[in-house]
Amino acid sequence: MADVKQLPTRDEVDPELTWDLTPIYQTTADFESDFKAVQDAIPELEQLRGTLAGGADNLLHAITAILAVIRRAEKVYVYASLKHDEDTGNAENQALSGRTQTLFTTLESAIAWFDPELLALDPDKLTAMITENPELANYKHYIDTITDQREHVLAPSEEKLLAQAGDALGAASNTFGVLNDADLEFPVVEDNDGQAVQLSQGVYDQLIQSTKPEVRQMAFKQLYAVYHQFRHTLASTLAGNVKTHNFNAQVRHYSDARQAALSGNHIPVSVYDALVKAVNAHLPLLHRYVALRKKILGLSELHMYDLYTPITGEPKLSYTYAQARDEAVKALSVMGPDYLGNVKTAFSSRWIDVVENQGKRSGGYSSGMYDTAPYILLNWQDNLESLYTLVHEMGHTMHSYYSSHNQPYQYGDYSIFVAEIASTTNETLLTDYLLKTYDDPQVQAFVLNHYLDGFKGTVFRQTQFAEFEQFIHEEDAAGHPLTADHLSDHYLKLNQRYYGEAVISDPEIADEWSRIPHFYYNYYVYQYATGFAAANTLADRILSGDTSKRDAYLTYLKSGSSDYPIEVMKKAGVDMSQTAYLDQAFDQFEKRLDQFEALINTLNK
Ligand SMILES: [Zn+2]
Repeated sequence: MADVKQLPTRDEVDPELTWDLTPIYQTTADFESDFKAVQDAIPELEQLRGTLAGGADNLLHAITAILAVIRRAEKVYVYASLKHDEDTGNAENQALSGRTQTLFTTLESAIAWFDPELLALDPDKLTAMITENPELANYKHYIDTITDQREHVLAPSEEKLLAQAGDALGAASNTFGVLNDADLEFPVVEDNDGQAVQLSQGVYDQLIQSTKPEVRQMAFKQLYAVYHQFRHTLASTLAGNVKTHNFNAQVRHYSDARQAALSGNHIPVSVYDALVKAVNAHLPLLHRYVALRKKILGLSELHMYDLYTPITGEPKLSYTYAQARDEAVKALSVMGPDYLGNVKTAFSSRWIDVVENQGKRSGGYSSGMYDTAPYILLNWQDNLESLYTLVHEMGHTMHSYYSSHNQPYQYGDYSIFVAEIASTTNETLLTDYLLKTYDDPQVQAFVLNHYLDGFKGTVFRQTQFAEFEQFIHEEDAAGHPLTADHLSDHYLKLNQRYYGEAVISDPEIADEWSRIPHFYYNYYVYQYATGFAAANTLADRILSGDTSKRDAYLTYLKSGSSDYPIEVMKKAGVDMSQTAYLDQAFDQFEKRLDQFEALINTLNK
């Protein structure tokens, strides 16, 4: 066998490059004592059932008692899950994580009575309770987010029935997961070096970026041949999932599945419509970028499998972790001394688990809770992509830090709709910093292309998905069967409209809908696109040098879940119910596309 680079085992990693979890629990005994405290407190929470109608003091007592136990349980959970992820093969850590999950399930079922009982209170009486009791008023928005759902909560017997049907209603989605992750078998193909390699989703993601057209073409054709073979099954699982969303929306008295899904975060559907409208109005920009890609690659035909190969050659930037840390600090310095001080604390206090080791969870994330540091997991590689991941996760970590240090526990977290804005704003600041710092035209071209590809994949592609998601829910609601042919016909037309004339409409791409797990997430993907566009406006405001605009951004980071997401973003300076922020993002895309085109013309002279 060829020489394979061995990853270090967990205990071979330099402790300075690992996260320090001892501030959470000094010893395992400390963990066990909190675990037991949660276990002992759970039965007491069940005894509070039936007390809420007794008055403001009773309601306040129930809320604080429940939140106190959840808070302790979250700490236990975060510790166990971080331990688990640093070495997923470690049996002791597996046991910790498994026990903690069971603890959470028990806790959730012990407090399941709370929301229905709160909703059963007379609304006027509830308002009076909150007005009379100043301590209870601290939980007003928390209570509002529950009572907002009043019209959509059913009678207790119906709720019970729906809860019991939950597993059955989720079957279509589970079947897709099992088929896609476990049962589908892909053929052996050739990689970049002519070596035979077993195709998989992960291998496909690498091969589709190959600089050799025949390698990416083969990967594309072979992957889609497998999906094509199962297209009727996959249409059936997708249709089953859509039917579940439509059924839930209907029985809960929403006008449609989209309204039901967005109401969870109190997002008006106009945000979604504005996105789709603005993206469609700017599709000529995507067509122009795609045509430029064809020209630079020197291809007589541009296929769907030519959209992911890098067009500016091998990356010209590489960083060790120590260098990347310095670059991150410089790129984020526009956030001001307070933010920067906290970033430096993240580096010096070992909040970051840096390098890969055997059994470590892949990818990168930021995770923590109110009473712990917001930790970051990385799998460091000496390249630009890792630097982007570092500032991205640092964005989440600072958001968590500011929210937990400026809000009471009940408002110390935040919703997914606002989460990706904090991380993407940091990425946008890094792009700006790199373009201002490196004069070398090849580096400039590389960074610009990184930005353009990111925009294509996030704003254009995710909105294409969002449009398709809306289409399939509407079709099912109108009684039109979601057959494989119907799905593929529509998807192909949608894809042609998005990519335009410069790309050959390969028939295989008609089946792309069949392999996208996000279509099972229930109106999730549009948030990637809105988040990316909002980050663009926010980064512009921060870079303007006007410290009041920067402070407005910090106000957003400090807001946690104390208000609805759209309101929080308004405080930061971006109104996501209007289209101006989207237009501003497209202006930036166009400007950088011009810059990139001019650079490429100079480099090729
Ligand atoms: Zn993120």
